[in-house]
Amino acid sequence: MKEHNIPLLNTSTQTQVFIGGQWQARRDQPGPMNIYLATRGFVEAATRKCMAKYTNVQFQEQTTVINLVGSGDRVTGVLTRTKAGSEVELSADLLVDCSGKGGNTCSWLKQFGVEAVPEWSVQHGISYTTMLFKRDNDDIPIESQDGRSVAHRTRVLAVYPDDATPPKYSRHGLFWPVEHDQYQCSLIGVGKDPAPTDYEGFVRFSETLAHPAMANLLKGLKPIGPGTMYMVPTSRFRLFHKLDDVLPNSFLCLGDSVMNVDPVFGQGKIR
Ligand SMILES: Cc1cc2nc3c(=O)[nH]c(=O)nc-3n(C[C@H](O)[C@H](O)[C@H](O)COP(=O)(O)OP(=O)(O)OC[C@H]3O[C@@H](n4cnc5c(N)ncnc54)[C@H](O)[C@@H]3O)c2cc1C
Repeated sequence: MKEHNIPLLNTSTQTQVFIGGQWQARRDQPGPMNIYLATRGFVEAATRKCMAKYTNVQFQEQTTVINLVGSGDRVTGVLTRTKAGSEVELSADLLVDCSGKGGNTCSWLKQFGVEAVPEWSVQHGISYTTMLFKRDNDDIPIESQDGRSVAHRTRVLAVYPDDATPPKYSRHGLFWPVEHDQYQCSLIGVGKDPAPTDYEGFVRFSETLAHPAMANLLKGLKPIGPGTMYMVPTSRFRLFHKLDDVLPNSFLCLGDSVMNVDPVFGQGKIR
């Protein structure tokens, strides 16, 4: 991250949040939490580069897991298919399933006698539309709004609805600097209300947020391309812990394959 000059955020003093109809005060906290601001693609590429340094880690490029392999009550590996179409079995002492919310875990478990995995789900229809803009500064060109901390620069701007409690929770937006001299802005709609992916429509959506700061900011910036829309229709929690007696051994589920939550309220990677 340091190598690539990724902007660093002091979350307590450099975050400007409008919520519940007012600006939140920024305070210097003892032991502030500092985080690097980068896109997911950048973080994943950096993680992969770090992992490649370990000689006991192997990557299977362009390969899909198509089933679990096992016998009796034990998972012993996976069956994979390469891009060229050949099927290869990989064996494992412990299999960790981190195939995310779209993974096939539940259907694969049927061969081990697990007919159905109980789950809780909530439909909320959250959508993110994200657009990148050119930047020439780590800071966001707006002044602090709380009147007390103008000395601190703003690195994250968040505009939340006046009433931030469900079901009234609605349109909101987040803005921050990322790698390669870019700003990233995500505009979020709730209940199948996505922000458009074209610049004009994106700005129009931002004008409907609870405070004009986001729209004013976007109007002064040049988009790098059209936005990308991502729909998160449902939050889901698979209750694997209720199946202790029937789940096969040597098999572990992690991350979104267990629980994927509305990213507005839950942060998957730190779960
Ligand atoms: C819009 C949005 C914003 C978010 N913001 C944040 C945030 O700010 N902070 C945070 O902590 N979290 C955030 N999250 C949540 C976070 O992205 C997820 O919780 C996290 O990525 C889950 O990691 P995972 O490894 O379990 O699954 P994933 O990241 O979904 O990875 C699963 C991988 O497995 C691969 N895969 C699936 N099936 C197979 C197969 N059969 N064979 C081979 N490969 C397969 C998939 O292609 C994918 O690459 C956000 C999520 C969304 C949608």
